[in-house]
Parts: sequence; C-alpha cells; structure tokens
Amino acid sequence: MKAIVKQYPKEGLWLQDVPCPKPGPNEVLIKVRKAAICGTDLHIYQWDSWAQKTLKTPLVIGHEFMGEVAELGSAVHSLKVGQRVSGEGHITCGKCRNCRTGTQHLCAHTQGTGIQRHGCFAEFFTLPAENVYPLSDAIDDELGAICDPFGNAVHTALSFDLVGEDILITGAGPIGLMAAAVAKRCGARNVVITDINPHRLQLAKKLGCCTAALDANDLNLKKELHALGINDGIAVGMEMSGSPAALADMLDAMQPNGKVALLGILAPSTKVDWDLIVFKGLHLKGIYGREMFRTWDQMQRLLEGGLDIGGIITHHYPYEEFEKGFAAMATGESGKVILEWS
Ligand code: NAD
Ligand code: ZN
Repeated sequence: MKAIVKQYPKEGLWLQDVPCPKPGPNEVLIKVRKAAICGTDLHIYQWDSWAQKTLKTPLVIGHEFMGEVAELGSAVHSLKVGQRVSGEGHITCGKCRNCRTGTQHLCAHTQGTGIQRHGCFAEFFTLPAENVYPLSDAIDDELGAICDPFGNAVHTALSFDLVGEDILITGAGPIGLMAAAVAKRCGARNVVITDINPHRLQLAKKLGCCTAALDANDLNLKKELHALGINDGIAVGMEMSGSPAALADMLDAMQPNGKVALLGILAPSTKVDWDLIVFKGLHLKGIYGREMFRTWDQMQRLLEGGLDIGGIITHHYPYEEFEKGFAAMATGESGKVILEWS
C-alpha cells in the first residue's frame, strides 16, 4: 500500500510502498478515505528539535482521519466492516491510575498515532477497537477527518461555563476558530479572537462567529475590549497560539476570578506575570487532547445539533500531492488541509 513515511531523520516526507498492516486481536484495520494535516505533522516534516527527540524513523505519520472499517481483529465484535469511522489517536494503557479513574486522556503511558506508532497517512492503518469512533450520518466525511482538532477545540471550550460570558481566544488557527464557533453556539455573549496573521483574521471574520477578530500586532487589547463594551474584563480565556506574547495579553485582560484554558504549546522559557494570576485569583487549566470519550460524544452531538464548522477546511489535495498540502500549512494561509485517500 501507499503511505507517507518519515523515512529518514532529516527534513521531508516520502511517499512509499509499505506492507499493509494486520490488525491484532483487539484492533481494527481502517481504510482511510480522508486525512487532515496537523501542525504536529508539519513539525515532523520540518524535523525540528521536538520531532528529533520524539520520533523513531521510519514511521508512517498522520493522526487526523476518517475512513471505513476494513477488517476486524479476532476479538472485536462491537464494529462492522464497512462502517464509517474516525478515531482517537491517543492510545492509552488502560492500567495506570488515570486510565482507571476516569481521566484516561491523561494516561501516563499515552502512545500517539503517527508519532510513536504508525499513523493514518496511508491507504490502511490499525487502531485499537476502543479508539474507533463510529460517525453518525450528520457528520460528513470532511468533518469526520477533522474530529481530532475539533475535539481539542471542544475540550477546551467546554472546560468552563461560557453562557453569557465574554470570551477571549488567542490564536485563530483551525483550533482557535473551531473553539470560537463552539463558544458562540454554547451561549457566550462576546467571542473575541486575536491573531497576527491577516489570513487567519480574515477567515475568522468569514466564519461569522466572533464579535471581533483583532490583529495582535500593536494591540491595545484592554482598549479594544472597552470599545466592544467589555468593561469587566474577560471571563474565560482560551490560549490557542502557543505565543508568550498572547498569553501575557490574555492574563492582563482577564477579570478577577477568570478562567484560562491553555491548549497552545508554550516554550519552556515563557515568562508569566505571576502577580496577575495570584492577585486576580485566576484559574488555569492545561488541556491535553480530548477526554475519552466524553469529548467525542460532545462533538458528535454539537454537529448533529447544527454547529457549522465546515468553513474551516480550505484546501484539498490527493495524497500524491501531499507536498502542496504541507506547503499550504507552512504559509499559514490555510485553515484545515485535507488529503484524499480514496
Ligand atoms: P496554528 O499554529 O495553526 O494556530 C496558531 C495561531 O496562533 C496561528 O494562526 C498564529 O498566527 C497565531 N499566533 C501566533 N502568535 C500570536 C499572537 N501573539 N497572538 C495571537 N495569535 C498568535 O495551530 P492550531 O492547529 O490551531 O493549534 C493551536 C495550538 O494548540 C498550537 O500551539 C498547537 O501546537 C496546540 N495544540 C495543542 C494540543 C494539546 O493537546 N494541548 C493539541 C493540538 C494542538
Ligand atoms: Zn494509562
């Protein structure tokens, strides 16, 4: 079968013929129809320091997908061949304390699909049956392929009470934009989003779920918030850029007793004004992945209820043209980029 492989420990990815995997007893073989490129895949392509210390080559990469069940492991009875599915790419151990006490997404031994085990940028790949998530008819193939990042957005957005509140999202990347759509749908009063990339700000305006999409370059955030009638400060912040400057702006804009969810991956050197956190009594929550499988249930129901996030997908390429997809991601002039496998 064809697969996009991190074959060598250097920049680039290679389209190769590799053996089709066999599902283990508790696994499912999935025939991939659509896969989406994540920022993580771009890090792997560019072979940055994180990728160098995390990946062992050769590896089939990719973790955002939808497809159909092609074959069931001998012990799998809960799924059917031909069923449309997406799935959770974090494989957990099932034995550690978090796995056994309802916080499986924080498993101490998580293995990432397309990071520590072969991923979905291939005609076929395997996933443990418990990670496979059947898609209802309300979720088309396109949306099925972006369940993973949509789940990040839903997990973050639903971490704190949003109803009637003023929300700030820093970073209008695909996840920030989807979180904005969720926040608005779930009853936020104002959803303000910031970015430094004009294409992303334009996409935010086009999606229509934000009160304002503000350019974070030379931004006087407090002044802009006052101009929008947000005089008490921000009740719920979602940091989705990984930018230290964005985090600093956010902490400054928070109201006392405000809640901050941190999804963006901040450099270890990021400095924080602790006074803002301590004296405003802020609540900080780190967000990793998706709750298993509460977030999956929530995202399916949000989509079934009419939440529209389709506008977030901006590019499609056949998998043979994956280089174009990665180039679109690298420019930042894209939302989600889909690779077609069927
Ligand atoms: P992305 O890189 O596409 O989007 C980040 C956006 O932040 C970009 O549009 C960028 O222009 C913008 N940005 C940069 N500096 C900024 C600033 N000072 N102010 C405002 N915006 C700024 O990423 P994404 O795929 O949307 O993911 C969002 C973040 O979440 C990334 O940091 C990613 O690494 C992280 N992530 C975390 C998890 C997790 O489980 N915690 C999972 C997936 C992604
Ligand atoms: Zn575990």
